[in-house]
Amino acid sequence: MIPRIGHGYDIHRTAPGRPLVLGGVRFEADFGLEGHSDADCLTHALCDALLGAAGLPDIGHFFPDTDPAYRGIDSQLLLQRVCAELRTRGLQPANVDLTLIAERPRIQPRLAEMKAALARSTGLPVGQIGLKATTHEGVGELGQGRAIAAHAVALLIPR
Ligand code: MG
Repeated sequence: MIPRIGHGYDIHRTAPGRPLVLGGVRFEADFGLEGHSDADCLTHALCDALLGAAGLPDIGHFFPDTDPAYRGIDSQLLLQRVCAELRTRGLQPANVDLTLIAERPRIQPRLAEMKAALARSTGLPVGQIGLKATTHEGVGELGQGRAIAAHAVALLIPR
């Protein structure tokens, strides 16, 4: 069996009075992200990359935002369930690579914590997790801080 590659993308609007959770890490900020769960768009992008690599439907299929069970849920739990889903199909992640696009807050100082959280949830060694953060250089909605977005790719191998 050959390795399977997947891609994920997610974007959430920023909103006052919401928690800001990215990659399983809570940031102190005067805004958070809109969403049914904790709105952790970085973790959602990773879930979609893993599901896509397995040829499975997206995160909304498994955890619909119409289901009250997922209201405010910690997205690390969703990521753990996605990885469990992969295991039942004889698959495991080999490595993942993520890019977070956020004009603010400053992400760099928290990257190691975020990687550690994603490593715990996926069972991957930290060294198999790539994570970069960039701004959008002031361009468009992302650049004006009206949303935060994330891209992810994941490689799956047989267990
Ligand atoms: Mg999302």
